[in-house]
Parts: sequence; C-alpha cells; structure tokens
Amino acid sequence: MEQLKGIPVSPGIAIAEAFVLHSDVSFNIPPHPIADEEVWKEMARFEDALTRTRAEILGIRKKISTQIGRESSDIFNAHLMILEDRTLIEDVIAIIKNKKVNCEHAFSSVIQRYFEAFSQIDDDYLKERIADIRDIGRRILNNLYGQEGAFEKLNQGGIVIAHDLSPSDTAMIDKEKVLAFVTEIGGPTSHTAILGRSLEIPAVVGMDGVTVRVKNADMVIVDGNEGILIVNPDEQTLEKYKQETKRFIALNTELDKLQHLPAETTDRHRIILAANIEFHDEIPSVIAHGAEGIGLYRTEYLYMNRTDLPTEEEQYRAYFQVAEKIAPHPVILRTLDLGGDKFLSSLDVPHEMNPFLGWRAIRFCLTRVDVFKTQLRAILRASIHGNLKVMYPMISNVEELRKANSILEECRQELKKTGIPFDPNMEVGAMIEIPSAAIISDILAQHVNFFSIGTNDLIQYALAVDRVNEKIAYLYEPTHPAILQLIKRVVESGHRHKRWVGSCGEMSGDPAVAVLLLGLEIDEISTSPVVLPKVKKAIRAVSFKAARDIAQKAMQFHTGSEVRDFIDGELGRISRDFPAAK
Ligand code: PEP
Ligand code: MG
Repeated sequence: MEQLKGIPVSPGIAIAEAFVLHSDVSFNIPPHPIADEEVWKEMARFEDALTRTRAEILGIRKKISTQIGRESSDIFNAHLMILEDRTLIEDVIAIIKNKKVNCEHAFSSVIQRYFEAFSQIDDDYLKERIADIRDIGRRILNNLYGQEGAFEKLNQGGIVIAHDLSPSDTAMIDKEKVLAFVTEIGGPTSHTAILGRSLEIPAVVGMDGVTVRVKNADMVIVDGNEGILIVNPDEQTLEKYKQETKRFIALNTELDKLQHLPAETTDRHRIILAANIEFHDEIPSVIAHGAEGIGLYRTEYLYMNRTDLPTEEEQYRAYFQVAEKIAPHPVILRTLDLGGDKFLSSLDVPHEMNPFLGWRAIRFCLTRVDVFKTQLRAILRASIHGNLKVMYPMISNVEELRKANSILEECRQELKKTGIPFDPNMEVGAMIEIPSAAIISDILAQHVNFFSIGTNDLIQYALAVDRVNEKIAYLYEPTHPAILQLIKRVVESGHRHKRWVGSCGEMSGDPAVAVLLLGLEIDEISTSPVVLPKVKKAIRAVSFKAARDIAQKAMQFHTGSEVRDFIDGELGRISRDFPAAK
C-alpha cells in the first residue's frame, strides 16, 4: 500500500481500478530485428492497430456529435484521413518487409518523416496538421503497445491517472466510465480542476510522479476532499474509506435539504447564490444544489472540440434553452473567453509564449469582430426568453469596454432594423479579473450595469502566480491582503455607482471565504454547483453584522495565512458545522 498527496480540487471519494494514460509516447523507437517468418505477424499487428484506432476515432466522433448536438466532430475527419493514407501505410509495410524490423520502429520512423516534411511547408494550415499527426500517431502506438490509449476506451468505471488532462480532454469525460481523475500537473483553479467539480467526480491535481507510481489495474482510492491517492489499499484502509464514502453521501443528502432556502443571514440580509456552468447538461445539478441562477456560463465550451465555429442559430438555441430553464432566475452569459489554458481547434490562434497574458478573451473578440458579433446577436435574440445578462471577460481598460459596448449597440441596431426582437434592457457587466480593472473600477462602473469579480484570474495576475502550475500553488492565496483590498475596492466602486457586484471565482466555494466576501458586502456569489450547499449553510449560520466584523478584522492582518486562520476560526466558532474548515 502506498499513499500519495496532491492538491484536492473536486470533493468525494472513489474506489476503483486505475487506468493510467501515458500521453508522452515518444516517436523515437529503436529498431529490433525480427525473423523472416515474423514479418507477416508484424504487418498484421500494424493493420490491427490501424483498425482499432479507426474504431476508436469513429466512436469519439459519434460521441462528440451527439454530446454537442450537431456535426461538430469534423476535427476527427483529419485523423481518419491520416489513418487511411495509403502512402503512409505502404511505407510502414515496406520498412517492416525490407529491413525486417518491429512495426513500432517502422511506424515511428515514417511518422518522423511526416513531421519533418510538414514542418518545412510554408503554410500555416498544413503546419497545424502536425498536431493531428502527432495525436493519431500516439493513438496508433498505444494500440500497438496493447495499452489502453485514452479514457474513452474504459468500459466500466475506472480512475484515470494522467500526466495532464487538457480542458478539452476533460470535457469529453463520460462520468459513467470515469469515476475520478488524478493528474501530475495543474493548479486548484485550472479549468481542468473546475471541470472535475462540474462533472461532480473526485479529482486531485499536482500529484508528482503518479503515472510512474501507479500501474494499470492497480486498485486505488481517490480522496478528493483531502487530495490523497492510496495505491493497493489494505483491507483496513478500504473499510475506512467505504465508511468515509457513506459519511460523505449522508452529509450531502443533509445539505441538499437547503435547496429551496435562500442564502440569507440570521439577521435577514440576503445575497444571490448562483452557479458557474460550462455545459447545458449541468442545469439539473444547478437546480438540485439550490442555486438562484447562473452567475457564470463559460460559453467557450460551446466552441470546444470542433473544427467549425458555432453558428448564430446554434448559439441562440443553446442560450435561450438555458434562459428558459433557469427563469425567473438570471443567467449571466460570459462572452467567449478563449485562451489561457483553453484552446479551440476552430480558431486559428497562434501559439504564444505567455498564453494567459496574450491575445485572448475580449482582446481576441475585439479583433475578430465577426466572431464576437455572431455571439452577441445570439445572446440578444435569446434575451427575450428569460432573464439573461451578458458580461465581458478580461477587461483591462475603459477603451475595451467602450468598444465592446459599441459593438453590442451595433448588433442591437441590426436586429432592430430587421425586426428581430431582443430585450433592450438586458444588463451588461464586466468581469473584474485584472488588477488594472480593479484599480479603475470607479471609472469602469460608469459603463456597465454590474461587475463580476473573477477571482481565479485576479489572484493569478495580482500575485503573479500561474493558476495551472502546481509548483507554485502554495503562492496562490485567495486571502492575500492584496486580494482582499482589491475586492473591497471593486465592491465600493460598484456600490458608489449603484451597480451590483458579484464574485464568480472558485474561492467563494470555500465557506469561510464566502462569509468573508459577504462581510465585504458582495451582492452575489457564483461558484461550482457542487459546493453551493455548504456555502449556503455558512451564510445562513452567520449574521451580516458578524460577517462585516470578520471582514473588517481580516483586513488588518499582514499575511494570507493569518487571514486564513482567522476566518476559519471565526466560522468554526459561529457554527459547529464547520469545525474542520481549512
Ligand atoms: C475567473 O477568472 O475568476 C473566472 C471566473 O473565469 P475563468 O475561471 O473561466 O477564467
Ligand atoms: Mg477568468
């Protein structure tokens, strides 16, 4: 039995067999000689790997097109074309026959030649196909090695162990098959971590060396509450975690009883407790966990895992369906926030040295006005169906806000001219997630109806801590005095201009931090649905007066850990339900 520690990012406990993904397949495979009579066997192995890879790709393509609800699976057509490329196949077979070597070597040397040829072509589109070749090459090699190549091949519930999972990989997880995941890299607010919470499966990131320490089919326990992985547990440990699972389920059943109660303090101060979502199918979870609306709909997931862009019509349908299902509560659609750790195959965005600081989110939309307008028109059209609001991500100055608003106005005028109805009073907000925006929030407030503080990025930019880097995760401190001062400033600026101010970062999923935000007079808290009940419980346990006192005292400490200890202690004192708040 072995115990490993990582960063807990999605609560719960799972006990099952491990399924280790080795994504770092090398294409430098040395030759090893084979006998004459083995030549046909090697050729057959290669053909067999191609057939299995083809079946795999067709399966994924089908899944994506049903999940996303249209023919958005074209990305895999390029993969299929490479698989069926006769020249590639014949070259591999010729090497096996003529040099009498293993097919892994033959295949990898042909693939290497493809990489070289494509990287010399002076055509950006073709250069980008290298990624497709690498991906398909990896799948074929995995099939040659007889190793399960990707989690879509899991037939029954297993626990995925990987070096990394991109947000687009994670978006494809089928939770019937994947009971939990653990990665070697990643930080607590990476979008992969956030998706773990959305899927409501236990997840741990930043677990160094886990893909080496765990073998396929090892029995493992993932404790997403504590960030622990236990490999090949003994009977006693297994029993302990089975009991722990029962306790966890009972606790959640108890918390779900708060579903229909408001997020109201003991002295009747009420705030809106809303949910963050990425996918339409999270709506039942939003409702079950008692959210009063959607405070952040990350619309970029509609654009992910496809090679074409979603049309205005498709977006309109997606938005109005959410609006209708959540009405009368509000739904805040955040416009396309591409970049950082979220990449889209449908948009030709060059690789950058610093993707979190690069051509992303509103910066991208203000250049690709065609993409932006398609989305804004869809949002405006959907606005008559419920209580929709729109907000822009990554605002860093007032010019961006002015430009975005004037493009929105253009869309309104176009719709008006063609007689297409929309809500002329739909509220427009800005995300405050860049320190410059927080500092000039007094000016920005004059151009919007509301603010939503994106603390995931605000912390990353204010403290210069990459939110997806596990090595510096200890510096990622939501309670850092600088963060508290920025939040306070934004709330005060908003209120001075009679604007409501929300917070949609992950930090407010922590009950003690939520009480602190309440005390800083935030009007709305939006976070992952799965953590909402315990946040509601904390809010209902305190008085607004006590929360304000806590916030005022918290502002006096000099370090994030002092604030942390203080707020945990205070919440623990107020309510016995939070004794172990960390
Ligand atoms: C944030 O930055 O806090 C936020 C809510 O947006 P995202 O996590 O999608 O960057
Ligand atoms: Mg953000």
